[in-house]
Amino acid sequence: MTGKFDGKVAAITGGASGIGLATAEALLAEGATVVLVDRDAAALRALTERHGAACIAQVTDLLDADSCNAMVPQILDKTGRIDILHCNAGTYIGGDLAETDPATIDRMLNLNVNAVMKNVHAVIPHMTARGSGDIMVTCSVAGHSAIPWEPVYSGSKWAITCFVQTMRRQLMKHGIRVGQVSPGPVISALLADWPEENLRKAKENGALIEPSEVADAVVFALSRPRNVTIRDMIVLPSNFDI
Ligand code: NAD
Repeated sequence: MTGKFDGKVAAITGGASGIGLATAEALLAEGATVVLVDRDAAALRALTERHGAACIAQVTDLLDADSCNAMVPQILDKTGRIDILHCNAGTYIGGDLAETDPATIDRMLNLNVNAVMKNVHAVIPHMTARGSGDIMVTCSVAGHSAIPWEPVYSGSKWAITCFVQTMRRQLMKHGIRVGQVSPGPVISALLADWPEENLRKAKENGALIEPSEVADAVVFALSRPRNVTIRDMIVLPSNFDI
């Protein structure tokens, strides 16, 4: 442990699994207090028991408007401060638009886009009042390339890429840094729908990375001195060609 994040509070949405959990564990190892935000209360219970007092659970369903809007105030009640907000929770769906149920489109946009914007909106007064803060968003390589087999997911991530870039400009005058990490395929529960055969081949071919690889990039960016901003980090497996 280097203690680089001693005294800092990081809130991470989707913190009970995958990239969010790997980032939380990396920040805990560097001395941060971490608030894991997730709708999976059982997973949060197990994680806070495992990691002790520096790991705090915040049960929030980001698809529920009241729960989503209450998230930042509830975290501030528990910790008194948020130095880092990592908007990471997201969901995935591939396939042709014509075969996608409109309710699925709503869920995707509500979680991948609306919840991110609302969580950032809610934390701005707190960070602005302190003249400091870091906002990190997990986007995707699909938010930088037009991937034909996932139009809704890709569209949601392009929206959030643009949001990050505009918020970076809007918030820099308040001492708030806004960055994003855009992974390629990562081994996580999000890929549960991938056919077993595709997953096996992708692993064998080095076309998937671990959540910890993404977490390392996030921690590196957040640990730069405050006069340094790392803008858009694209983290890809070496064997990736889109
Ligand atoms: P994951 O499924 O392992 O973790 C997602 C977490 O979000 C889970 O703990 C889940 O309970 C939580 N969550 C889902 N819906 C929620 C809701 N309504 N309210 C609160 N919490 C909710 O997935 P992951 O791969 O770690 O994905 C994290 C982020 O990374 C997502 O934004 C995803 O789009 C992005 N991403 C993932 C990949 C990949 O290949 N896995 C690639 C690029 C980008």
